Amino acid sequence: MAYRTLYIVVIAMLLLASCALLTGPRSPEKREAHVATVDNNVCKRLRGKVVIYGVFVDSKIGGVWSTHDIRSTLDSVRVAADWIMSQAQSKGIELDLVVASHEKGGVVPVRSELGRGGLSGMLSSVSPAVSLDRWADKACRQVQSSFPRDTARITLTKHGAKDRERSIAALRDRHGTDNVALVLFINNYYGSETSVAVHTGSTSSIEYAVVAFKRPAVIAHEILHLFGALDLYITPYDSKKEAEKRKRFAMERFPKEVMAFPFRGLDSLEIGTLTEYLIGWRREALPEDEALLTAGKVRLAKY
Ligand SMILES: [Zn+2]
Repeated sequence: MAYRTLYIVVIAMLLLASCALLTGPRSPEKREAHVATVDNNVCKRLRGKVVIYGVFVDSKIGGVWSTHDIRSTLDSVRVAADWIMSQAQSKGIELDLVVASHEKGGVVPVRSELGRGGLSGMLSSVSPAVSLDRWADKACRQVQSSFPRDTARITLTKHGAKDRERSIAALRDRHGTDNVALVLFINNYYGSETSVAVHTGSTSSIEYAVVAFKRPAVIAHEILHLFGALDLYITPYDSKKEAEKRKRFAMERFPKEVMAFPFRGLDSLEIGTLTEYLIGWRREALPEDEALLTAGKVRLAKY
């Protein structure tokens, strides 16, 4: 099994050590810091009504979707959604996760060709976000074309709305909520592939996730990224020793954390206190979690 090669990354995702962007006025003691992914981009807080919108993308390298594959993947998305809702309920958080997908008389795939080497190859290219965005936008253009015209009236920025942005605007309108988690699925059934959440810390590019696995835990992990959660395991992108050390500590502190162990069964996992803060389930970070994230140098903002 190609198990060892499986990993999940967040592009341009800030190492734990550097993920707190310093903003706000200086206080006499510590400066206040905001985590770039928190309360930001399309998916702000994982509360209230949230739509998980799945788009199934066919491609030569990524494979094509059969109706059976789509159905079983949507089942996994629902398992992930139910698990997140039960975690929310156990912590007194009101959350209604709705799973929806691109339909045209039944759920149908769209087509957009992945670059050479598939998703993993694109991620290791010189400018991964550019090629990935182009791929995602092409898929979203087809989603967009299936919506009735009148649902596409709002855009998020005044000029140059991208296809992803238009799709999000139409979906927000249609479902009556701002919280739309856009997840593009690749049917990479036989190969080992990566899953990724893109632009989660960006203030200008629309965030989305690309998922190549059918495992509910991986799907839940990526959805949580869109709402601000950070990886709490060591990825191949962690080069700084300090970040590695801190993540090792995080994995010890949160032995059942879904952001640390996405390849375990969902039933054995939970959402830990640090992730709770990052996804908007907790106004303040616990002192231990703040120390873990900032090395005690700054004070994390309250939300
Ligand atoms: Zn991750």
